Amino acid sequence: MFSEKILALAAECEKDCREQFEYIDDIAFKNTQKVMKVFAENKLSDRHFAPTSGYGYNDDGRDLCDKLFADAFGAEAGFARHSIINGTHALSIGLYALLRPGDTLLSVAGKPYDTLDEVIGISGKSGDGSLADFGIGYKQIDLDENGYPRLEKIKEAVANDESVKVVFVQRSKGYSDRRTLTVKDINDICDVVRANSNAYIMVDNCYGAFTEESEPKADLLVGSLIKNAGGGMAESGGYLVGTAKAVELASYRYSTVGVGLECGASLGQTKSMIKGLFYAPHTVAQAVKTAVFAARVFEKLGFTVSPKYNEKRSDIIQTFTLGSEDALVKFCLGIQAGSPVDAHVAPVPWEMPGYNDRVIMAAGAFTQGSSIELSCDGPVRPPYIAYLQGGLTYESGKYGILKAAQTVTE
Ligand SMILES: *Cc1c(COP(=O)(O)O)cnc(C)c1O
Repeated sequence: MFSEKILALAAECEKDCREQFEYIDDIAFKNTQKVMKVFAENKLSDRHFAPTSGYGYNDDGRDLCDKLFADAFGAEAGFARHSIINGTHALSIGLYALLRPGDTLLSVAGKPYDTLDEVIGISGKSGDGSLADFGIGYKQIDLDENGYPRLEKIKEAVANDESVKVVFVQRSKGYSDRRTLTVKDINDICDVVRANSNAYIMVDNCYGAFTEESEPKADLLVGSLIKNAGGGMAESGGYLVGTAKAVELASYRYSTVGVGLECGASLGQTKSMIKGLFYAPHTVAQAVKTAVFAARVFEKLGFTVSPKYNEKRSDIIQTFTLGSEDALVKFCLGIQAGSPVDAHVAPVPWEMPGYNDRVIMAAGAFTQGSSIELSCDGPVRPPYIAYLQGGLTYESGKYGILKAAQTVTE
């Protein structure tokens, strides 16, 4: 199936990655212990998996699931719902929950993820109901030239402007060519903001969850269940966890003021969400190992990769600078061919809702669009960077990477 040359390269790269793999397994064990402890303390039981319909009153399983997510993230409160349609929706709930007309949103890790442009009102039509339409201002502080937060600037910005109500931090690099922030970087931002203002700190935790031993100490920590925190098991959904006050406001925006978290039929999704949380530390480790392996393979093939195989990680994303549309497309073709579902189809660039450039995606996932499953995507713009993430099992991830290596080098 693979050439002798590719298999020899794989063996060599795996040897190089051994130390990293041990480190990743150690983090997975620590996070698994955390999750198991939370399940035991909350007395998770068979009855919690029972579905509800209609209004979903008295859904003990749903309530417990909320608590499990909050506790697993080390937060005061939180909720995880299958009815949150994606990460953008979860983030949008958080932003509209905390901001009021006249307030300012301050993004301190450069521009947020592309799909938030229209939510904030950086792009899109006036009158659509963006934050800008509601009179909410937007300011941004870029990371420094080495990719670290500018703490002094952040301090000045929050101390001198009382309108700054939300300090927004995106942990993962998303579709920008920058360093992923670590939990420590983000906690440093939290300390500075808390010492100098009353602003909420909201963290886009997409792709970050369970890659380190602990999670950022944000007022609102937000992510998708078809990424890390759903462990490849949740069929859909998102989570928002954090302080009791911020989560309460978020719950009103999620459903309605007054209703909050008391309604919302679980429709039988609770079990897969909780099972997902159980799997998450392990599944994330599989994805990180896949990324580390991929970094080593493509570095050896002569491409610029970020991060390098032996660098510390705080998300599951791996980038490869491919230099041309052709190479980007070939890379994605290889990943698609190495997927368990739709391995026979060829991805092409398309105009995706919410994104400003054409995007090419390889996604052969059991859950549509799930990016804790091996997937790769890239906006079709120079320098043609492919963003790879996921891998439910290291073995299948390795298979996909070798397919991509073969396609790109042929
Ligand atoms: C995936 C992601 C989002 C949300 O994207 P959805 O496709 O709406 O789930 C937001 N921010 C970052 C950094 C992401 O990786």
